[in-house]
Amino acid sequence: TKAKVVVIGGGYGGATAAKYVRLLSDYKIDVVLIEPQAAFISCPISNLVLGGSKQIGDVTTAYTGLSKNHGVTVVRDMASAIDTAKKTVTLAGGATIAYDKLVVSPGIDLMYGSIEGLQQAQAAGQILQAWKAGAETVALRKQLEAMPDGGVYAITIPEAPYRCPPGPYERASVIAGYFKTAKPRSKVLILDANPDVTSKGPLFKKVWAEQYKGIVEYRGQHKATAVDAKAGVVKFDVQEDVKANVLNVLPSMRAGAIAVQTGLNNMANNRWCGVNYQSFESTAAKDVFVLGDSIQIAPAMPKSGHMANSHGKVAAAAIVAQLSGWEINPAPMLTNTCYSFVDNKNVVHVASVHEYVAAEKTFKTVAGSGGVSPGPTELEGVYALNWASNIWSDTLA
Ligand code: FAD
Repeated sequence: TKAKVVVIGGGYGGATAAKYVRLLSDYKIDVVLIEPQAAFISCPISNLVLGGSKQIGDVTTAYTGLSKNHGVTVVRDMASAIDTAKKTVTLAGGATIAYDKLVVSPGIDLMYGSIEGLQQAQAAGQILQAWKAGAETVALRKQLEAMPDGGVYAITIPEAPYRCPPGPYERASVIAGYFKTAKPRSKVLILDANPDVTSKGPLFKKVWAEQYKGIVEYRGQHKATAVDAKAGVVKFDVQEDVKANVLNVLPSMRAGAIAVQTGLNNMANNRWCGVNYQSFESTAAKDVFVLGDSIQIAPAMPKSGHMANSHGKVAAAAIVAQLSGWEINPAPMLTNTCYSFVDNKNVVHVASVHEYVAAEKTFKTVAGSGGVSPGPTELEGVYALNWASNIWSDTLA
């Protein structure tokens, strides 16, 4: 009988793993991908939907590439339970699927409970996150459009690690770009639980000081503790309350619920999942591989889509090797590039290469690899959009 790989989550990590298990096994291993969404909606580039230069359809890709081109069985459902002893996955719809190897890439869970009042405010559609692209992205854009000129948009950032280190700063910048042309008396407030900008700091700060003087204000060491949606107020552990017309409150994050529920979250106060970095096999359960934002990262490894795509390829190679009786690659490599728009055209990037160091069982940044932009350019804006269409093809086509 054919070996069977089940993948939970058709995002950057899971979809890549599904495709590459098929490719690397010469289409000999069966792959079932479980994903509740009708189509893949990308977080990368979704900040441009908030800025108004892109529509949600521009960041959406069908799953038919995986099924038609690669023979992946795509099941539109939610995994509701994993039995790592029996090696089965149960779906919300009731079916049970057996696996030889399981890939778990469910992304992040937003810890609404860490900020008083946020769960209710989110459920009521008053205070949104839009940290998973889709309907909330569109709804947040509507809030920004409805905001009067002279209003305030405030984004709060949790302590690192969280999904996409530069993402909140990119969002603040792109929204400032929209305000500058559409409602120039408005303000963007960045309220960061971290002491300083955690990614591309000097680049973003220069843009805010020059391009968005009088529009963007950055405040570090602001840890949100509570919200009052009716009053439009966010409260902090130490600093004064802040009132805004549009609040975009990002709570702390942890591994996706299905990973937590299965007990794969064995690291960092049970927030993230430990993996063997040579294969991405879980350190909590055999034959289970965890990818993407859900994992405990080694230093300097960001929680990014580019990294999740890289994890997917390393895990797929390890899974195919294990099922074929081959030796696992002793020294896998990961790459990362994060482009950030500072308005709807100009972009900066940070890039790095990470190698597995067997003696230390971890990934280390390759000395001299990567780097950061000297400053924003339109040419990098072209590269950024090409990066996106390339990674969407690599992951899904
Ligand atoms: P996701 O891509 O979120 O995929 C998880 C999938 O699992 C989802 O489709 C979900 O529906 C599914 N799922 C969850 N639970 C279950 C279940 N129980 N059963 C079945 N399916 C389930 N990264 C970059 O590299 N470059 C960027 O420019 C960039 N910009 C960003 C901008 C923003 C605003 C944000 C929020 C993020 C950005 N990122 C960027 C980060 C990137 O989106 C994430 O790192 C990436 O999506 C992680 O991949 P993943 O596979 O872990 O999770």
